[in-house]
Amino acid sequence: MQKWQPIDQEISKKLGEPFISRDHRPVGGGCINDAYAISDSSQTFFVKLNSVALMPMFVAEAAGLQEIIESTSVRAPTPICWGATENHSYIVMEFLDLGGNSASAKTSPSVILGQQLALMHKKTSDQFGWKMDNTIGSTTQPNTYSKDWLAFYGESRLAYQFDLAAKNGGQASLTDKGHKLLDSFHHFFTRYTPRPSLLHGDLWSGNVAVLTSGQPTIFDPAVYYGDRETDLAMTELFGGFGQGFYDAYNETWPLDPGYTTRKTLYNLYHILNHFNLFGGAYGAQAEHMTSQLLSEV
Ligand code: ADP
Repeated sequence: MQKWQPIDQEISKKLGEPFISRDHRPVGGGCINDAYAISDSSQTFFVKLNSVALMPMFVAEAAGLQEIIESTSVRAPTPICWGATENHSYIVMEFLDLGGNSASAKTSPSVILGQQLALMHKKTSDQFGWKMDNTIGSTTQPNTYSKDWLAFYGESRLAYQFDLAAKNGGQASLTDKGHKLLDSFHHFFTRYTPRPSLLHGDLWSGNVAVLTSGQPTIFDPAVYYGDRETDLAMTELFGGFGQGFYDAYNETWPLDPGYTTRKTLYNLYHILNHFNLFGGAYGAQAEHMTSQLLSEV
């Protein structure tokens, strides 16, 4: 098919041998992009497509996957090539054979994931942020470097999303409470100093799977260096990862006892983002979370 030809060509360049895709199977489960498994008679690749304008999203996804792979901690798919054709932006990556489960592994995949995520978080930087902005869903995620976590989380995460929410029809009361929270959330950090850890950044259960080998894998990251508690908090937002995961994480690198007091603060970012992406009841949920946080400071 015409649409695949330029992508096949880029894959061929990377492989150093011709690749002409014959089979293009849609893959469901994603939130943002059209995804396909594309194959010739011997190889399969995973491809995501979006509009040409969203090419920077795939550039950052490729760099994020690369950064996770270089940490030699958690399995993530190797990016092959990315760019834009006349009609699409695209990323091509290693096709992962998903669909494994606990039964296929000696050690539970969620236990391995807990250990490996803690190892990934042990990869630290000297600043919060990242070398490029990326996206969370399809919302821009600014990653301007800062030495100060409170400044970074306040400006590049909460304020950014509160401002977007106001533009997207959020209630004035949400904006007001947001301003109050930005002035007071430092109270959650009186006895805790976060370090800039390598983060997945969008770690909900839909971005984690088990290979048929029984090995856990993560994908679709929104990488930056930040407080590791943000990744843990997100694992609890849309259904947990199982007690084995949390026990293994804590055995490898114990969380600060104050983690539970900051969980809502960290998940507020994602709920605000959900309001900005999908609207609806997420606005009320974000306001409820903000009120709860204000009652605790
Ligand atoms: P989106 O960016 O649209 O959210 P995802 O990256 O989450 O898309 O991918 C959509 C689905 O495709 C995932 O839920 C997963 O089941 C599957 N998937 C993701 N990456 C791979 C891969 N490298 N190989 C095979 N399947 C994948």
